Amino acid sequence: MSEPKSTSRTTRTETYAVRVYKQYFNFGSAHFLIFGDGSREELHGHNYKVEVEVEGEPIAGDLVLDFIVFKPIVKSICDGLDHRTLLPRSNPNLELVEHADRVEARHRDGSYFCFPRRDVLVLDLPNTSTEMLATFIANKILDELPSRIPDARLRSLAVSVEESPGQAGIFKVRFGSDAAAD
Ligand SMILES: [Zn+2]
Repeated sequence: MSEPKSTSRTTRTETYAVRVYKQYFNFGSAHFLIFGDGSREELHGHNYKVEVEVEGEPIAGDLVLDFIVFKPIVKSICDGLDHRTLLPRSNPNLELVEHADRVEARHRDGSYFCFPRRDVLVLDLPNTSTEMLATFIANKILDELPSRIPDARLRSLAVSVEESPGQAGIFKVRFGSDAAAD
C-alpha cells in the first residue's frame, strides 16, 4: 500500500474567483501617452474595455462577490471616465493648471492645450497608459467595496483595460498572506 502523496496535499490550493467583462464595461476617451524620454503621443482616443477578476473566499450564499452588487460598481467607474480627455496629474513633463471653467496643459515640447473643465478628467496618475488606468480603476473598486460588500473576503483583484482588440494593460493586487507569499 503506497503512502498518500502528502506533498501534493500540502501544496494544494483552491481558489475561487469571479470575472466580469460585460459589454457595457467600456469608455470612449481621449489621451496621449508620455514616453520615458518625455516625448508624447498626439492626442487621440480609444474605445476602452474593462475586465475585472476577483479571487476570494466564498461568503454567505457561496459567492465570492454578488454580481448584482458588483457590476454596477464597475459600470459607474467606466461611466465616470467616458467621453472625457484623460490627463495625468503627476507627470513631470506635463504642467497642468486647473481653473474652475478650464484646464490648461503644457507639455515640455511646447504644445499647449486648453480644455473646458467638464470635458477633462485629471487623474492622480503619472501617465494614462492602460496599466495606469487599470490601477486607477482597481483603486476605485477598492474604495467602494467595503461599504457595498462589507463581508467580502478578497485574496486578489485584477483589472484589465483593453485599448484596442488584442492589447490590454493589467494591474493586479494581492491581499493578506497571498501578498506576503509573493
Ligand atoms: Zn492611446
